[in-house]
Amino acid sequence: MTTQTAKNKAMTERLVEWDKKHYFHPTTPLKEQQAKGPAHIFTHGKGIHVTDVYGKEFLDGVSSLWNVNVGYGRQELADAAREQMMTLAYGSSFFNNSHDVVIRLSQKLASMAPGDLNVSFFTSGGSESNESAIKIVRHYWKMKGQPERKKIIALERSYHGVTMGATSATGVPEFKNMITAIAPDFLHALPHQTECELGDSSAPGYERSIRGIIEKEGPETIAGVILEPVQGVGGIQIPPEGYLQAVRQLCDEYGILMMTDEVITGFGRTGKMFGVEHWEVVPDLMSVAKGITSGYIQLGAVMMTDRLRDELADLSDNVFFHGFTYSGHPTACAVALKNIEIIENERLVDNAKQMEQELWKGLNYLQDTHKIAAKPRAIGLMGGIELLADPDNGTTFEPSTFAAPAVVEECAKRNLILRPLIFGGLNVIAIAPPLIVDKQDIETIIATLSDSIQAFEQRVM
Ligand code: PMP
Repeated sequence: MTTQTAKNKAMTERLVEWDKKHYFHPTTPLKEQQAKGPAHIFTHGKGIHVTDVYGKEFLDGVSSLWNVNVGYGRQELADAAREQMMTLAYGSSFFNNSHDVVIRLSQKLASMAPGDLNVSFFTSGGSESNESAIKIVRHYWKMKGQPERKKIIALERSYHGVTMGATSATGVPEFKNMITAIAPDFLHALPHQTECELGDSSAPGYERSIRGIIEKEGPETIAGVILEPVQGVGGIQIPPEGYLQAVRQLCDEYGILMMTDEVITGFGRTGKMFGVEHWEVVPDLMSVAKGITSGYIQLGAVMMTDRLRDELADLSDNVFFHGFTYSGHPTACAVALKNIEIIENERLVDNAKQMEQELWKGLNYLQDTHKIAAKPRAIGLMGGIELLADPDNGTTFEPSTFAAPAVVEECAKRNLILRPLIFGGLNVIAIAPPLIVDKQDIETIIATLSDSIQAFEQRVM
Protein backbone atom coordinates (compact mmCIF):
# COMPACT_ATOMS: atom_id res chain seq x y z
CA MET A 1 0.00 0.00 0.00
CA THR A 2 1.43 3.40 -0.96
CA THR A 3 1.66 6.08 1.73
CA GLN A 4 -1.00 8.08 -0.11
CA THR A 5 -3.56 5.25 -0.16
CA ALA A 6 -2.79 4.42 3.49
CA LYS A 7 -3.47 8.06 4.32
CA ASN A 8 -6.74 8.02 2.36
CA LYS A 9 -7.81 4.84 4.08
CA ALA A 10 -7.11 6.32 7.51
CA MET A 11 -9.04 9.47 6.60
CA THR A 12 -12.03 7.44 5.35
CA GLU A 13 -12.09 5.41 8.55
CA ARG A 14 -12.06 8.63 10.52
CA LEU A 15 -14.96 10.01 8.45
CA VAL A 16 -17.00 6.89 9.16
CA GLU A 17 -16.30 7.17 12.90
CA TRP A 18 -17.14 10.89 13.01
CA ASP A 19 -20.35 10.25 11.08
CA LYS A 20 -21.37 7.56 13.57
CA LYS A 21 -20.53 9.77 16.53
CA HIS A 22 -21.54 13.26 15.53
CA TYR A 23 -24.01 13.24 12.66
CA PHE A 24 -27.76 12.79 13.22
CA HIS A 25 -29.03 11.84 9.75
CA PRO A 26 -32.47 12.75 8.40
CA THR A 27 -34.91 9.88 7.81
CA THR A 28 -32.41 7.16 8.74
CA PRO A 29 -32.51 4.08 10.99
CA LEU A 30 -30.39 5.55 13.77
CA LYS A 31 -29.24 2.28 15.33
CA GLU A 32 -28.07 0.96 11.96
CA GLN A 33 -26.16 4.16 11.23
CA GLN A 34 -24.45 4.02 14.62
CA ALA A 35 -23.55 0.38 14.14
CA LYS A 36 -22.50 0.31 10.51
CA GLY A 37 -21.78 3.93 9.64
CA PRO A 38 -23.20 5.62 6.55
CA ALA A 39 -24.29 3.54 3.54
CA HIS A 40 -22.36 5.83 1.19
CA ILE A 41 -20.03 8.77 1.62
CA PHE A 42 -20.10 10.70 -1.63
CA THR A 43 -17.40 13.13 -2.55
CA HIS A 44 -17.89 14.03 -6.23
CA GLY A 45 -20.58 14.35 -8.86
CA LYS A 46 -20.46 14.89 -12.62
CA GLY A 47 -23.34 14.61 -15.06
CA ILE A 48 -25.53 11.72 -13.92
CA HIS A 49 -22.77 10.08 -11.86
CA VAL A 50 -21.61 10.42 -8.26
CA THR A 51 -18.40 9.02 -6.79
CA ASP A 52 -17.88 7.85 -3.24
CA VAL A 53 -14.93 8.19 -0.90
CA TYR A 54 -13.56 4.83 -2.11
CA GLY A 55 -13.54 6.04 -5.71
CA LYS A 56 -16.53 3.91 -6.74
CA GLU A 57 -18.71 5.61 -9.37
CA PHE A 58 -22.50 5.24 -9.35
CA LEU A 59 -25.19 6.20 -11.83
CA ASP A 60 -27.64 8.32 -9.83
CA GLY A 61 -30.99 6.97 -11.00
CA VAL A 62 -33.05 9.14 -8.64
CA SER A 63 -31.32 12.54 -8.99
CA SER A 64 -30.40 12.23 -5.30
CA LEU A 65 -33.73 13.30 -3.69
CA TRP A 66 -35.50 13.81 -7.06
CA ASN A 67 -33.86 17.20 -7.26
CA VAL A 68 -30.61 17.27 -9.28
CA ASN A 69 -32.52 17.83 -12.52
CA VAL A 70 -29.66 19.29 -14.59
CA GLY A 71 -27.08 16.82 -13.26
CA TYR A 72 -23.93 17.37 -11.21
CA GLY A 73 -20.89 19.55 -11.75
CA ARG A 74 -22.41 22.45 -13.70
CA GLN A 75 -19.80 25.20 -13.87
CA GLU A 76 -22.45 27.81 -14.81
CA LEU A 77 -24.31 27.29 -11.54
CA ALA A 78 -21.14 27.56 -9.46
CA ASP A 79 -20.20 30.75 -11.35
CA ALA A 80 -23.67 32.24 -10.80
CA ALA A 81 -23.40 31.57 -7.04
CA ARG A 82 -19.89 32.98 -6.78
CA GLU A 83 -20.70 36.09 -8.77
CA GLN A 84 -23.82 36.79 -6.72
CA MET A 85 -21.99 36.31 -3.42
CA MET A 86 -19.40 38.86 -4.52
CA THR A 87 -22.05 41.31 -5.80
CA LEU A 88 -24.65 41.22 -3.03
CA ALA A 89 -24.08 38.44 -0.50
CA TYR A 90 -27.39 38.88 1.26
CA GLY A 91 -30.47 41.04 0.98
CA SER A 92 -33.68 40.75 2.97
CA SER A 93 -37.15 41.33 1.59
CA PHE A 94 -38.62 42.18 4.98
CA PHE A 95 -40.10 45.63 5.63
CA ASN A 96 -40.72 46.14 1.92
CA ASN A 97 -37.07 45.84 0.87
CA SER A 98 -36.12 44.03 -2.30
CA HIS A 99 -33.16 43.27 -4.52
CA ASP A 100 -32.69 42.89 -8.23
CA VAL A 101 -32.20 39.08 -8.38
CA VAL A 102 -35.32 38.14 -6.42
CA ILE A 103 -37.37 40.50 -8.58
CA ARG A 104 -35.99 38.92 -11.77
CA LEU A 105 -36.71 35.41 -10.50
CA SER A 106 -40.28 36.37 -9.48
CA GLN A 107 -40.90 37.71 -12.97
CA LYS A 108 -39.34 34.63 -14.60
CA LEU A 109 -41.47 32.23 -12.55
CA ALA A 110 -44.61 34.21 -13.41
CA SER A 111 -43.76 33.89 -17.10
CA MET A 112 -43.41 30.09 -16.76
CA ALA A 113 -46.19 29.10 -14.36
CA PRO A 114 -49.63 28.11 -15.61
CA GLY A 115 -52.53 30.57 -15.74
CA ASP A 116 -52.36 33.60 -13.51
CA LEU A 117 -49.97 32.11 -10.92
CA ASN A 118 -47.94 35.29 -11.15
CA VAL A 119 -46.82 36.02 -7.58
CA SER A 120 -44.13 34.19 -5.57
CA PHE A 121 -43.33 34.02 -1.85
CA PHE A 122 -39.87 32.52 -1.33
CA THR A 123 -38.69 29.90 1.17
CA SER A 124 -35.73 27.56 1.56
CA GLY A 125 -37.44 24.31 0.53
CA GLY A 126 -40.57 22.25 0.04
CA SER A 127 -41.73 21.97 3.64
CA GLU A 128 -41.47 25.70 4.17
CA SER A 129 -43.36 26.29 0.92
CA ASN A 130 -46.27 24.09 1.99
CA GLU A 131 -46.18 25.50 5.50
CA SER A 132 -46.42 28.99 4.00
CA ALA A 133 -49.23 27.96 1.64
CA ILE A 134 -51.26 26.60 4.58
CA LYS A 135 -50.73 29.80 6.56
CA ILE A 136 -51.59 32.03 3.59
CA VAL A 137 -54.85 30.10 3.07
CA ARG A 138 -55.82 30.36 6.74
CA HIS A 139 -54.84 34.04 6.84
CA TYR A 140 -57.01 34.64 3.77
CA TRP A 141 -60.14 33.19 5.37
CA LYS A 142 -59.52 34.95 8.64
CA MET A 143 -59.18 38.31 6.88
CA LYS A 144 -62.33 37.54 4.90
CA GLY A 145 -64.23 37.25 8.18
CA GLN A 146 -64.60 33.46 7.95
CA PRO A 147 -62.18 32.21 10.63
CA GLU A 148 -64.11 28.95 10.96
CA ARG A 149 -62.74 28.02 7.52
CA LYS A 150 -59.53 26.54 8.85
CA LYS A 151 -59.60 22.83 7.96
CA ILE A 152 -57.18 21.55 5.36
CA ILE A 153 -57.97 18.41 3.36
CA ALA A 154 -55.01 16.43 2.07
CA LEU A 155 -54.76 12.96 0.53
CA GLU A 156 -53.77 9.70 2.13
CA ARG A 157 -50.31 8.59 0.90
CA SER A 158 -49.32 12.25 0.31
CA TYR A 159 -46.01 13.71 1.41
CA HIS A 160 -45.74 17.44 2.05
CA GLY A 161 -42.67 17.78 4.26
CA VAL A 162 -41.62 17.84 7.89
CA THR A 163 -42.48 21.20 9.45
CA MET A 164 -45.51 20.92 11.74
CA GLY A 165 -48.18 21.98 9.25
CA ALA A 166 -46.57 20.04 6.41
CA THR A 167 -46.24 16.96 8.61
CA SER A 168 -49.88 17.27 9.62
CA ALA A 169 -50.92 17.52 5.98
CA THR A 170 -48.79 14.51 5.06
CA GLY A 171 -50.80 11.32 4.54
CA VAL A 172 -47.96 8.79 4.85
CA PRO A 173 -48.50 7.52 8.41
CA GLU A 174 -44.86 6.83 9.32
CA PHE A 175 -44.02 10.55 9.37
CA LYS A 176 -46.79 11.34 11.86
CA ASN A 177 -46.85 8.27 14.07
CA MET A 178 -43.45 9.00 15.57
CA ILE A 179 -44.59 12.10 17.45
CA THR A 180 -47.24 12.49 20.14
CA ALA A 181 -49.25 15.31 18.62
CA ILE A 182 -49.80 16.72 15.17
CA ALA A 183 -51.56 19.97 14.36
CA PRO A 184 -55.38 19.94 14.48
CA ASP A 185 -57.76 20.58 11.58
CA PHE A 186 -56.06 18.40 8.97
CA LEU A 187 -58.22 15.74 7.32
CA HIS A 188 -57.24 13.02 4.89
CA ALA A 189 -59.18 11.77 1.89
CA LEU A 190 -58.75 8.68 -0.27
CA PRO A 191 -56.63 9.59 -3.28
CA HIS A 192 -57.83 9.66 -6.86
CA GLN A 193 -61.57 8.99 -6.40
CA THR A 194 -62.62 10.76 -9.58
CA GLU A 195 -66.24 9.57 -9.62
CA CYS A 196 -66.80 10.63 -6.01
CA GLU A 197 -65.24 14.05 -6.58
CA LEU A 198 -67.53 14.52 -9.59
CA GLY A 199 -70.48 13.98 -7.26
CA ASP A 200 -71.42 10.31 -7.64
CA SER A 201 -72.45 9.57 -4.07
CA SER A 202 -73.06 5.90 -4.91
CA ALA A 203 -69.38 5.37 -5.87
CA PRO A 204 -67.37 3.26 -3.40
CA GLY A 205 -65.43 5.25 -0.81
CA TYR A 206 -67.63 8.33 -1.20
CA GLU A 207 -67.57 9.23 2.53
CA ARG A 208 -63.77 9.20 2.48
CA SER A 209 -63.42 11.23 -0.73
CA ILE A 210 -62.64 14.96 -0.66
CA ARG A 211 -66.26 15.70 -1.56
CA GLY A 212 -67.60 13.31 1.06
CA ILE A 213 -65.43 14.94 3.72
CA ILE A 214 -66.43 18.47 2.66
CA GLU A 215 -70.11 17.53 2.90
CA LYS A 216 -69.68 15.83 6.28
CA GLU A 217 -67.61 18.62 7.86
CA GLY A 218 -69.53 21.45 6.19
CA PRO A 219 -67.93 23.47 3.37
CA GLU A 220 -67.99 26.57 5.57
CA THR A 221 -65.27 24.92 7.72
CA ILE A 222 -62.89 23.99 4.88
CA ALA A 223 -60.06 26.41 4.04
CA GLY A 224 -58.21 24.48 1.38
CA VAL A 225 -57.28 21.24 -0.33
CA ILE A 226 -53.62 20.31 -0.83
CA LEU A 227 -52.36 17.60 -3.15
CA GLU A 228 -49.40 16.51 -5.25
CA PRO A 229 -50.24 16.31 -8.99
CA VAL A 230 -48.38 12.97 -8.95
CA GLN A 231 -47.75 11.45 -5.51
CA GLY A 232 -44.03 10.83 -5.11
CA VAL A 233 -42.92 9.46 -1.75
CA GLY A 234 -46.29 7.67 -1.45
CA GLY A 235 -45.28 5.35 -4.32
CA ILE A 236 -45.36 7.34 -7.59
CA GLN A 237 -49.12 7.39 -7.93
CA ILE A 238 -50.28 9.01 -11.16
CA PRO A 239 -53.88 10.23 -10.98
CA PRO A 240 -56.43 8.94 -13.47
CA GLU A 241 -57.50 11.27 -16.28
CA GLY A 242 -60.02 13.81 -15.04
CA TYR A 243 -59.09 13.64 -11.35
CA LEU A 244 -57.28 16.95 -10.98
CA GLN A 245 -59.97 18.69 -13.06
CA ALA A 246 -62.63 17.19 -10.79
CA VAL A 247 -60.85 18.49 -7.68
CA ARG A 248 -60.54 21.94 -9.27
CA GLN A 249 -64.27 21.99 -10.04
CA LEU A 250 -65.10 20.78 -6.55
CA CYS A 251 -63.00 23.53 -4.96
CA ASP A 252 -64.69 26.12 -7.19
CA GLU A 253 -68.13 24.78 -6.31
CA TYR A 254 -67.53 25.37 -2.59
CA GLY A 255 -65.17 28.37 -2.82
CA ILE A 256 -62.31 26.31 -1.34
CA LEU A 257 -58.70 27.18 -2.20
CA MET A 258 -56.74 24.55 -4.13
CA MET A 259 -53.05 24.13 -3.28
CA THR A 260 -50.84 21.89 -5.40
CA ASP A 261 -47.48 20.62 -4.23
CA GLU A 262 -45.10 20.61 -7.22
CA VAL A 263 -41.99 20.09 -5.10
CA ILE A 264 -41.04 16.97 -7.07
CA THR A 265 -43.11 17.48 -10.22
CA GLY A 266 -41.98 21.06 -10.92
CA PHE A 267 -39.27 22.10 -13.39
CA GLY A 268 -39.65 19.39 -15.97
CA ARG A 269 -39.66 16.15 -13.98
CA THR A 270 -42.91 14.87 -15.54
CA GLY A 271 -42.24 15.99 -19.12
CA LYS A 272 -44.08 19.30 -18.64
CA MET A 273 -42.62 22.29 -16.84
CA PHE A 274 -45.20 21.78 -14.05
CA GLY A 275 -47.21 18.64 -13.32
CA VAL A 276 -50.62 20.32 -13.35
CA GLU A 277 -50.09 21.22 -17.02
CA HIS A 278 -50.85 17.58 -17.96
CA TRP A 279 -54.43 18.22 -16.89
CA GLU A 280 -54.64 21.96 -17.67
CA VAL A 281 -55.53 22.78 -14.10
CA VAL A 282 -54.55 26.06 -12.45
CA PRO A 283 -54.48 25.89 -8.65
CA ASP A 284 -54.82 28.93 -6.38
CA LEU A 285 -51.44 28.23 -4.81
CA MET A 286 -48.54 26.10 -6.03
CA SER A 287 -45.51 25.03 -3.97
CA VAL A 288 -42.17 24.47 -5.70
CA ALA A 289 -38.63 23.65 -4.50
CA LYS A 290 -36.06 20.93 -5.43
CA GLY A 291 -35.73 21.31 -9.24
CA ILE A 292 -35.90 25.13 -9.03
CA THR A 293 -32.14 25.08 -8.34
CA SER A 294 -31.52 21.40 -9.21
CA GLY A 295 -30.43 20.99 -5.59
CA TYR A 296 -27.35 23.22 -5.96
CA ILE A 297 -28.65 25.48 -3.20
CA GLN A 298 -31.70 25.68 -0.95
CA LEU A 299 -34.73 27.44 -2.43
CA GLY A 300 -38.47 26.99 -2.56
CA ALA A 301 -41.45 29.17 -3.37
CA VAL A 302 -45.19 29.21 -3.02
CA MET A 303 -46.75 30.82 -6.06
CA MET A 304 -50.25 32.26 -5.98
CA THR A 305 -52.71 33.79 -8.39
CA ASP A 306 -53.00 37.51 -9.00
CA ARG A 307 -56.56 37.30 -7.71
CA LEU A 308 -55.51 35.77 -4.40
CA ARG A 309 -52.67 38.25 -3.85
CA ASP A 310 -54.86 41.22 -4.78
CA GLU A 311 -57.64 40.09 -2.47
CA LEU A 312 -55.12 39.58 0.35
CA ALA A 313 -53.70 43.05 -0.24
CA ASP A 314 -57.21 44.55 -0.07
CA LEU A 315 -58.17 42.57 3.00
CA SER A 316 -55.00 42.87 5.02
CA ASP A 317 -54.94 46.23 6.68
CA ASN A 318 -52.05 44.90 8.75
CA VAL A 319 -48.81 43.09 7.93
CA PHE A 320 -48.63 39.47 6.76
CA PHE A 321 -46.44 38.38 9.67
CA HIS A 322 -44.65 35.53 7.97
CA GLY A 323 -41.21 35.36 6.40
CA PHE A 324 -37.90 33.56 6.68
CA THR A 325 -34.51 35.24 7.04
CA TYR A 326 -33.60 33.41 3.84
CA SER A 327 -36.78 34.20 1.89
CA GLY A 328 -35.49 35.20 -1.56
CA HIS A 329 -31.78 34.73 -0.76
CA PRO A 330 -29.84 36.45 -3.58
CA THR A 331 -27.43 33.55 -4.19
CA ALA A 332 -30.26 31.01 -4.30
CA CYS A 333 -32.23 33.23 -6.70
CA ALA A 334 -29.20 33.71 -8.98
CA VAL A 335 -28.63 29.95 -9.10
CA ALA A 336 -32.34 29.37 -9.81
CA LEU A 337 -32.29 31.81 -12.73
CA LYS A 338 -29.24 30.10 -14.25
CA ASN A 339 -30.69 26.64 -13.61
CA ILE A 340 -33.95 27.58 -15.36
CA GLU A 341 -31.91 28.97 -18.26
CA ILE A 342 -30.15 25.58 -18.56
CA ILE A 343 -33.46 23.68 -18.44
CA GLU A 344 -34.85 25.91 -21.20
CA ASN A 345 -31.74 26.13 -23.42
CA GLU A 346 -31.06 22.40 -23.30
CA ARG A 347 -34.74 21.58 -23.80
CA LEU A 348 -34.67 19.26 -20.80
CA VAL A 349 -38.45 19.20 -20.40
CA ASP A 350 -38.75 17.82 -23.94
CA ASN A 351 -36.01 15.32 -23.16
CA ALA A 352 -37.91 14.13 -20.07
CA LYS A 353 -40.96 13.63 -22.26
CA GLN A 354 -39.03 11.70 -24.89
CA MET A 355 -37.20 9.58 -22.34
CA GLU A 356 -40.57 8.56 -20.85
CA GLN A 357 -41.00 6.28 -23.89
CA GLU A 358 -37.66 4.59 -23.17
CA LEU A 359 -38.55 4.27 -19.51
CA TRP A 360 -41.86 2.63 -20.39
CA LYS A 361 -40.09 0.16 -22.68
CA GLY A 362 -37.75 -0.74 -19.84
CA LEU A 363 -40.49 -1.01 -17.21
CA ASN A 364 -42.56 -3.24 -19.48
CA TYR A 365 -39.48 -5.40 -20.05
CA LEU A 366 -39.02 -5.76 -16.29
CA GLN A 367 -42.66 -6.76 -15.88
CA ASP A 368 -42.37 -9.33 -18.68
CA THR A 369 -39.08 -10.73 -17.39
CA HIS A 370 -39.64 -10.95 -13.63
CA LYS A 371 -42.63 -12.56 -12.00
CA ILE A 372 -42.45 -10.22 -8.98
CA ALA A 373 -42.24 -6.98 -11.02
CA ALA A 374 -45.67 -5.41 -11.47
CA LYS A 375 -47.65 -2.23 -11.95
CA PRO A 376 -45.14 -0.21 -14.01
CA ARG A 377 -45.80 3.52 -13.92
CA ALA A 378 -44.13 6.54 -15.48
CA ILE A 379 -44.81 10.15 -16.34
CA GLY A 380 -41.83 11.93 -17.86
CA LEU A 381 -38.78 10.90 -15.85
CA MET A 382 -40.77 9.99 -12.75
CA GLY A 383 -41.28 6.26 -12.87
CA GLY A 384 -41.29 3.09 -10.88
CA ILE A 385 -42.10 -0.56 -10.62
CA GLU A 386 -43.77 -2.41 -7.76
CA LEU A 387 -42.56 -5.70 -6.29
CA LEU A 388 -45.31 -8.13 -5.33
CA ALA A 389 -44.87 -11.66 -3.93
CA ASP A 390 -47.64 -12.80 -6.27
CA PRO A 391 -48.83 -10.20 -8.78
CA ASP A 392 -51.59 -12.54 -10.06
CA ASN A 393 -53.55 -12.15 -6.87
CA GLY A 394 -51.93 -8.95 -5.60
CA THR A 395 -50.13 -10.57 -2.64
CA THR A 396 -47.59 -8.18 -1.14
CA PHE A 397 -44.26 -9.19 0.36
CA GLU A 398 -44.04 -9.65 4.12
CA PRO A 399 -42.62 -6.40 5.58
CA SER A 400 -39.74 -8.47 7.06
CA THR A 401 -38.61 -9.34 3.49
CA PHE A 402 -37.67 -5.69 2.83
CA ALA A 403 -38.09 -6.49 -0.85
CA ALA A 404 -37.60 -3.06 -2.40
CA PRO A 405 -34.72 -2.05 -0.07
CA ALA A 406 -33.03 -5.41 -0.79
CA VAL A 407 -33.26 -4.90 -4.56
CA VAL A 408 -32.00 -1.33 -4.21
CA GLU A 409 -29.03 -2.68 -2.24
CA GLU A 410 -28.33 -5.12 -5.07
CA CYS A 411 -28.44 -2.15 -7.48
CA ALA A 412 -25.88 -0.28 -5.34
CA LYS A 413 -23.55 -3.30 -5.56
CA ARG A 414 -23.86 -2.87 -9.33
CA ASN A 415 -23.10 0.90 -9.22
CA LEU A 416 -26.66 2.14 -9.58
CA ILE A 417 -28.54 4.27 -7.06
CA LEU A 418 -32.32 3.86 -6.95
CA ARG A 419 -34.79 4.48 -4.14
CA PRO A 420 -37.21 2.12 -2.41
CA LEU A 421 -40.62 3.59 -1.53
CA ILE A 422 -41.88 1.41 1.28
CA PHE A 423 -44.30 3.54 3.23
CA GLY A 424 -47.69 2.02 3.97
CA GLY A 425 -46.43 -1.49 3.16
CA LEU A 426 -45.54 -0.72 -0.46
CA ASN A 427 -42.49 -2.05 -2.30
CA VAL A 428 -42.02 0.40 -5.14
CA ILE A 429 -38.65 1.13 -6.73
CA ALA A 430 -38.45 4.71 -7.90
CA ILE A 431 -36.59 5.72 -11.04
CA ALA A 432 -36.12 9.47 -11.50
CA PRO A 433 -32.75 10.23 -13.08
CA PRO A 434 -31.49 13.71 -13.96
CA LEU A 435 -33.34 15.15 -16.97
CA ILE A 436 -30.14 15.01 -19.06
CA VAL A 437 -30.23 11.21 -19.49
CA ASP A 438 -30.24 9.58 -22.91
CA LYS A 439 -31.63 6.28 -24.23
CA GLN A 440 -28.46 4.40 -23.34
CA ASP A 441 -28.54 5.64 -19.74
CA ILE A 442 -32.12 4.39 -19.36
CA GLU A 443 -31.07 1.03 -20.83
CA THR A 444 -28.22 0.80 -18.29
CA ILE A 445 -30.62 1.58 -15.43
CA ILE A 446 -33.12 -1.06 -16.58
CA ALA A 447 -30.48 -3.76 -17.25
CA THR A 448 -28.90 -3.20 -13.83
CA LEU A 449 -32.28 -3.20 -12.10
CA SER A 450 -33.19 -6.40 -13.92
CA ASP A 451 -29.99 -8.12 -12.71
CA SER A 452 -30.67 -6.87 -9.19
CA ILE A 453 -34.25 -8.17 -9.17
CA GLN A 454 -32.95 -11.50 -10.41
CA ALA A 455 -30.37 -11.66 -7.60
CA PHE A 456 -33.14 -10.97 -5.08
CA GLU A 457 -35.44 -13.60 -6.66
CA GLN A 458 -32.67 -16.20 -6.45
CA ARG A 459 -32.18 -15.40 -2.78
CA VAL A 460 -35.78 -15.37 -1.54
CA MET A 461 -38.03 -17.17 -4.02
N1 PMP B 1 -43.48 18.00 -0.95
C1 PMP B 1 -43.12 16.95 -1.69
C2 PMP B 1 -44.07 16.44 -2.73
C3 PMP B 1 -41.88 16.33 -1.49
O1 PMP B 1 -41.55 15.23 -2.19
C4 PMP B 1 -40.99 16.87 -0.53
C5 PMP B 1 -39.61 16.27 -0.29
N2 PMP B 1 -39.38 15.02 -0.76
C6 PMP B 1 -41.42 17.96 0.22
C7 PMP B 1 -42.66 18.52 -0.02
C8 PMP B 1 -40.54 18.54 1.29
O2 PMP B 1 -39.53 19.28 0.74
P1 PMP B 1 -38.22 19.64 1.59
O3 PMP B 1 -37.58 18.36 1.94
O4 PMP B 1 -37.43 20.50 0.64
O5 PMP B 1 -38.65 20.41 2.78
